[in-house]
Amino acid sequence: RQSGTTAPLRVILAQPRGFCAGVERAIDIVERALEKYGAPVYVRHEIVHNKRVVDTLRARGAIFVEEVDEIPEGAVTIFSAHGVSKKVEDGAQLRTLDVIDATCPLVTKVHKEGRRYAEKGYDVVLIGHLGHPEVEGTLGQIPGKVHVISEPHEVETLEVADPERVAFVTQTTLSVNDTKDVIAALRKRFPKIIGPDTRDICYATQNRQTAVIEMARQVDLLIVVGANNSSNSNRLREIGENFGVPSYLIEDATMLDPAWFEGVSVVGVTAGASAPETLVQEAIARMREFRALTVETLEGVEENVHFKLPRELADVPRPKD
Ligand code: SF4
Repeated sequence: RQSGTTAPLRVILAQPRGFCAGVERAIDIVERALEKYGAPVYVRHEIVHNKRVVDTLRARGAIFVEEVDEIPEGAVTIFSAHGVSKKVEDGAQLRTLDVIDATCPLVTKVHKEGRRYAEKGYDVVLIGHLGHPEVEGTLGQIPGKVHVISEPHEVETLEVADPERVAFVTQTTLSVNDTKDVIAALRKRFPKIIGPDTRDICYATQNRQTAVIEMARQVDLLIVVGANNSSNSNRLREIGENFGVPSYLIEDATMLDPAWFEGVSVVGVTAGASAPETLVQEAIARMREFRALTVETLEGVEENVHFKLPRELADVPRPKD
């Protein structure tokens, strides 16, 4: 590494970073619904956790609400990528809303697993962060008693009906490492516990975390582009921090502070699964205002995952930007 602040700043971009297949699909669904049905279409909750994405879709005629009772009866309504509870589905049906479901298929898979365990009479432990919309949705899709925990020490105080009949599922966007510890603690206390063959953490979360772990060894500063309420973006920032690298989560380029770059030779940049690449490019442009820089991309996994669109939108042409 070079020292001193006058040398060009080396910017290393993580690979992969940014949009995952579930986010691409959710945005595509809103765009195609606007094309097919015309504005407005209603979206329950931010379609994905990113202000730029939400503002862009709002400008095209999407109306974002938090609850279905804010939506006029019969209106076209899209559920966000995070998924919804059974109660929200029922509420939408009562209001005769024309629902298009943008729940990521990997979240739907967790709902199904959880329901299967509950129907067999298991106490279900959901490893995740209470209050995150995905967890609220998953909780509300699994009948019976569901225990939400996020730390290994919480395993000790769990009260279950039958320690021989316990199962677990996880939020899709957790830290791969932290989850491992919680699962180990669960297996220790409940040796017969059952869970998914592989963790429910999705491929995109895993790949972005692996790339940041690789990058953290090489940089003096880590910038994660993503929203404050984006779970997977927060996890990326924490990884940098755990490696002892000053790490910041920024919503956009305006949040970059020139003071962070003092004495820094190499900066790593990544983006959460809901952050568009334009925000990354804007951040690099802003850094260039502070210092001359070079940009390179770390070698990483090539992702080739695509999810099918809902049938009613599959034939609608994607509108041009
Ligand atoms: Fe789906 Fe994973 Fe993307 Fe969430 S982060 S939308 S679970 S692919």
